Amino acid sequence: MKNSILFLILLSSSILFAQETYLHCGNIVDVKSGKVLSEKTIVVSGKSIKSILNGYQAGNAEAIIVDLKDKTILPGFIDMHVHIESESNPKSYVERYTLNDADVAFQSTVYAKRTLMSGFTTVRDLGGTGVNIALRNAINKGTVVGPRIFTAGKSIATTGGHADPTNGMKNVLIGDPGPKEGVVNSPEDGKKAVRQRYKNGADVIKITATGGVLSVAKSGQNPQFTIEEIKAITETAKDYNMLTAAHAHGDEGMQRAVKGGIKTIEHGTLMSEETMDLMVQYDSYLVPTITAGKQVAEKAKIPGYFPEVVAKKASEIGPLIQSTFAKAYKKGVPIAFGTDAGVFPHGLNAKEFGYMVEVGMPIMKALESATITNATLLGMGDSLGQLEEGFLADIIAVDENPVYNVDTLENVVFVMKEGQIFKSE
Ligand SMILES: [Zn+2]
Repeated sequence: MKNSILFLILLSSSILFAQETYLHCGNIVDVKSGKVLSEKTIVVSGKSIKSILNGYQAGNAEAIIVDLKDKTILPGFIDMHVHIESESNPKSYVERYTLNDADVAFQSTVYAKRTLMSGFTTVRDLGGTGVNIALRNAINKGTVVGPRIFTAGKSIATTGGHADPTNGMKNVLIGDPGPKEGVVNSPEDGKKAVRQRYKNGADVIKITATGGVLSVAKSGQNPQFTIEEIKAITETAKDYNMLTAAHAHGDEGMQRAVKGGIKTIEHGTLMSEETMDLMVQYDSYLVPTITAGKQVAEKAKIPGYFPEVVAKKASEIGPLIQSTFAKAYKKGVPIAFGTDAGVFPHGLNAKEFGYMVEVGMPIMKALESATITNATLLGMGDSLGQLEEGFLADIIAVDENPVYNVDTLENVVFVMKEGQIFKSE
């Protein structure tokens, strides 16, 4: 009884004196209206934005004041395509045989922190070993510093497909992985693989609808699922309210994915105009990953960086992504910002903005895709992706107004996630 009274006193005093943070913001990018507002105070209480006031307000004596008067403030960015567990390096293909889960876990904490510090307060992880699920949980608990993660766990592929975990191995190791490991060969297998991911704690579903660049396999673009398999997967994912994503470079596999009900198409490299029209019709989103395409093409020039079969695909497919993105955007295909970080060093995610703007997307549209669009796709459109009263306080700052200098987004100087300050330079 005594304890519960003490608890009530503590609770009510913490409500009465909840510490508030007052951010004095020189410029605020209001992504929704496309306007840059000046001289505002964002009041943060707990995890949320309590109010946005005109001018620079001080609050009560206990309030923490953060001076961002010479900065431009934006909502925290959301990257729809990362692989937070790993980072490409010349040893990547050997590390599959040498790293234990604990090794992967330790390195993933470094990438998670770097991602958050670069202004990405939320990411969708599109495939790893399953350590990504434990990482998400550790970040949610506060034991590890990193972005809010929506994870696919382990991707779903077909036998020999892009995300078959035993691709390129010698016969004794190849075995015959099944739905549990993410390898399916029928609609029934597809349903089971989705349910297994749900059981394992994944938030979203990722399939590899066509061949890919970095897998040890000949084709980077062949279709790898039947439309029946894809439909079984998307219909089952819907039962569990899981967003679906399909890796796709080739056009046929991409069309099957769109017609089969996949919500986001990753890369979209060889997308035809017909498929662009289909995407508009089906309201499916392109996640461009231009940065990854450019970076793998660069790395392919370094002898021995990739296995030979991979290097060839990287130099052919990588450079095409940016121009496809430009065409798709102009045709009205909805765009969801995403980079494929992990294929290149984590923390460079904001390079994507420059590549999008370079080929004709207005900066405000690029920012909208990285905030409001992605928050909405993740089912958090009413609490994430905008600086609005009642929204989660995911707030970042850069030195300059990105409308005049997009490169400033690559140098984030202030990061707050859910009301907690992680970086303040
Ligand atoms: Zn990827």
